[in-house]
Amino acid sequence: MGDTIFGKIVRREIPADIVYETDDVLAFRDLNPQAPVHVLFVPKRPIATLNDAAVPDAELLGKLLLAAADYAKREGFDKEGYRAVVNCNEHGGQTVFHLHVHLLAGRRLTWPPG
Ligand code: C5P
Repeated sequence: MGDTIFGKIVRREIPADIVYETDDVLAFRDLNPQAPVHVLFVPKRPIATLNDAAVPDAELLGKLLLAAADYAKREGFDKEGYRAVVNCNEHGGQTVFHLHVHLLAGRRLTWPPG
């Protein structure tokens, strides 16, 4: 896959408001937040889309979700709740082709999404 802006953030080539990091995952605030809390969790090893994930990626995908849940607990919005979502390709609204989990919190979110 080609490099993306998230790859550059992971390599610290461009700045981002980084809020959480593990050996495998980096999380930073979305530049165009859709909720009071809008953080993107990205695997440091890039996978373009959810379609491109395979069984060998299972542990990394699990770590990605667990990182989002750990951050929610750490920040204290786990009880009120939040949404963790992955957009895939055009109809899913994906614009950056380095798989990421959006963590949205801080307001009551509506369903279904637009
Ligand atoms: O799921 P999708 O690919 O559309 O999400 C990409 C997200 O990355 C958007 O919410 C956009 O605001 C965010 N973004 C960012 N910083 C950039 C480029 C995109 O936070 N430099």
